[in-house]
Amino acid sequence: MVYAFGGGAAEGTKDMKAVLGGKGANLAEMTNLGVPVPPGFTIACAACVEYLRGGAPPSGLRDEVARALARLEETAGRRFGDPTDPLLVSVRSGAAVSMPGMMETILNLGLNDRTVQGLARHSGNARFAFDSYRRFLQMYGDVVLGVPVARFEQLLGAKRLTEGVATDAELSEGALRTLSEEYKALVRNATGREFPMDPREQLWGAIEAVWRSWTLKKAVDYRRVNGIPDTLGTGVNVVAMVFGNMGDDSGTGVAFTRDPSTGERRFYGEFLVNAQGEDVVAGIRTPLRIEEMAERLPGAYAELLETQQRLEAHFREMQDIEFTVERGRLYLLQTRTGKRAAAAAVRIADEMVREGLIDRAEAVRRVVPAQVDQLLHPVIDSAVRATPIAGGLPASPGAASGRAVFDPDTAEKRAAGGEAVILVREETTPEDFHGMVAARAILTSRGGMTSHAAVVARGMGKCAVVGAKEVHVDHERRRFSAGGATVAEGDWITLDGASGQVYAGDLPTVPSEIVRVVGGQLMADRAPTYRAFSRVLGWADEVRSLKVRANADTPRDARMARAFGAEGIGLCRTEHMFFEGDRITAMREMIVAREEGGRRRALAKLLPMQRADFEGIFEAMRGFPVTIRLLDPPLHEFLPHGGEESKLLARTLGMGRDELHRIVDDLREANPMLGHRGCRLGITYPEITEMQSRAIFEAAVRSSRRGHDVRPEIMIPLVATVKEFEHQAAIIRKVADDVMGAMGEPVPYLVGTMIELPRAALTADEIARSAEFFSFGTNDLTQTVLGLSRDDAGRFLGAYIEKGIFEEDPFQVLDQDGVGKIVRRAIFDGRSTRADLKVGVCGEHGGEPKSVRFFHRSGVDYVSCSPFRVPVARLAAAHAALDDGEPGALSVRREG
Ligand code: ADP
Ligand code: MG
Ligand code: MG
Repeated sequence: MVYAFGGGAAEGTKDMKAVLGGKGANLAEMTNLGVPVPPGFTIACAACVEYLRGGAPPSGLRDEVARALARLEETAGRRFGDPTDPLLVSVRSGAAVSMPGMMETILNLGLNDRTVQGLARHSGNARFAFDSYRRFLQMYGDVVLGVPVARFEQLLGAKRLTEGVATDAELSEGALRTLSEEYKALVRNATGREFPMDPREQLWGAIEAVWRSWTLKKAVDYRRVNGIPDTLGTGVNVVAMVFGNMGDDSGTGVAFTRDPSTGERRFYGEFLVNAQGEDVVAGIRTPLRIEEMAERLPGAYAELLETQQRLEAHFREMQDIEFTVERGRLYLLQTRTGKRAAAAAVRIADEMVREGLIDRAEAVRRVVPAQVDQLLHPVIDSAVRATPIAGGLPASPGAASGRAVFDPDTAEKRAAGGEAVILVREETTPEDFHGMVAARAILTSRGGMTSHAAVVARGMGKCAVVGAKEVHVDHERRRFSAGGATVAEGDWITLDGASGQVYAGDLPTVPSEIVRVVGGQLMADRAPTYRAFSRVLGWADEVRSLKVRANADTPRDARMARAFGAEGIGLCRTEHMFFEGDRITAMREMIVAREEGGRRRALAKLLPMQRADFEGIFEAMRGFPVTIRLLDPPLHEFLPHGGEESKLLARTLGMGRDELHRIVDDLREANPMLGHRGCRLGITYPEITEMQSRAIFEAAVRSSRRGHDVRPEIMIPLVATVKEFEHQAAIIRKVADDVMGAMGEPVPYLVGTMIELPRAALTADEIARSAEFFSFGTNDLTQTVLGLSRDDAGRFLGAYIEKGIFEEDPFQVLDQDGVGKIVRRAIFDGRSTRADLKVGVCGEHGGEPKSVRFFHRSGVDYVSCSPFRVPVARLAAAHAALDDGEPGALSVRREG
């Protein structure tokens, strides 16, 4: 269960993350690469799992650790607890999946009243020794003994005050000496016991505390948000200490091998001179830019530059590294895959292919569908000349407006009440995690680009501005002041995560770069993010087998869908066409007509309008299929709601208002969702189906005459039995014959059905004898299979998810075990009677990555989603294909 690293040889490798955790595996890998790493050993994650289950360390582990410690003493040339020259260690958590800052780490372990003297003598620097001691007493007191950090910080603050200094780094040796006495007294008072002086007892206390930190609230929250299983457990890394706080030739820092916001290939990071461990990340002192290290610590800087390049080339991935310089000597303490903003993710994937580091399939894998989604989010409108009230570091891009809140609990509470909130803090700590999840964006007044707030926000794809120095947070009074303005809790502010500006109020936003290119407002050659995005998505298209269409009801949406890469329309809802302009009057006239003649007269007015719409859509989608659904919603949805509208309608139709009221009343249904809608309308009023079919086929022939390749697919909604389908299909086919015969030009077309009722799914074999395609309307199918109305589910869905009855909202993520099972069975049965049955999905689920994966595996031919979800679906379909190990064209090809 114990694996050594450092000192020239390691027992682990980077491929052992599941055993050692990411930190341990990469410390081993760095050792193997010859990168300078302080020696140490890793206790496997399995020990944590066993400890949490049984409450005690696994048997035999104590002996293994004792042996590893003896070897470490040998490698380090120092002994643990030696009063003349003690070996000190850090005890660090590290799970298989990176959970930055969510668990605990203790530094300088092994110090006590005697060894601190040894450290002072041996280093010739008593101030350094006592600085290390007070840090250790505080960390151990907090993490292992449960004494609140605030009480240590109080004593520390008081010491700064009495010494008349601004920062901890200025505290004198004497002050630090008395501080460590005060700390020990604090522990004695708070716990009723002496601070443990025995280094071995300290070690085991720390190991167990790291194991327990797996179950801290922040860690549990983080796993829930990121879908990390609770069963993994954390590794424990015991690492010989190296000291960045030994003077001005020492320091510590964190860096990325590429810019995590933009993806630009440049070494990017921050460091502090004469500092230890988390000083940089915690934002206690504002760090220096990494370039300045060239002057302050030139030798170590040159080595760091060389090392970071080596690490990136080796891992073929952007690295996030931690390092410490002890008296001019560089040590790497950690390397891991760096979290990055969405724009950076696509740029890095694209450029690494061109640099020959990765192949195209890998580039596709490295962009998560959610990141593509972020790139389509709006940004602040630059035409609005608002004056920022403060500026900070653009830590995580995007634009967000919300009400300022000053603590994580309030953020969570107000967000749960449906409000948009922005969490404002001096700096964030892992304890703020749940508030960060709830907030739209995060603003801090301290800390750098690698601070906790920045890293976590980027990981969540949330906008963040950090280190905004002009922002003075008054936590007590729940407000902040900046640039002469005061912002109280509940006031609106807007953050621009791309520029780092902070504005008062709720500023308007504009479409993102990619959306502007897609919408034709920006040229692609002036849009670098768009270019990287379209290349990566192009590669995704080469690997995926599942086709992606869009749900689009107008020519404009259809053009947008094409620009986003849709390969056809999977759902064109014709009812939306009836709401536009004065069409609604003709529609109402049709609905309230008492006999067929009246309905036909009204429908004749609608025909040319629908035809024109279809022509526009066919043209925008030329070369691709367009699935048109016949009228679906219940008729009363089209009727006037208010008194004014009714009066107007009655006058237009030359009808008494009482009569109109009667007709409207007659149309009202107790349960419209299960009422007179879908094909039931077309069966009772066949002239509606006739008119719509005529409009479709006339438009198809006209477009075809203009040289466009048109492929209409007519879809009959809400079919429960094959007889309904046959009734409607006969009308459609007859109209097709009439139109094409009269116009003298055939156009190929399909007639199929939506599968959205359990009975249709259960009789799929029968229906497929007549229907040429199926399209699963998974929104309605979810409602009908679960017997759950989407409009009413909001009241209790939250409780269901909280209580673990539903894992996710079934209207967002397909219920695979229930609805999914029915889908699979219907596909199987349908193809048993029609082998070439075309199968699509046109619910919201068609743009949701997990559901897309399921559809891919179920033999669906295409998914269809809103135009803005098309890129997400393209990428998700590619990921599904890659995960299935489909060879695809790409995996063998390589550029550069
Ligand atoms: P986290 O997962 O929160 O980053 P780490 O275990 O990486 O926690 O440690 C926290 C900080 O302490 C980091 O800045 C790290 O570089 C530093 N640190 C950890 N171990 C040592 C060590 N042996 N010597 C010097 N600094 C260390
Ligand atoms: Mg770390
Ligand atoms: Mg439906």
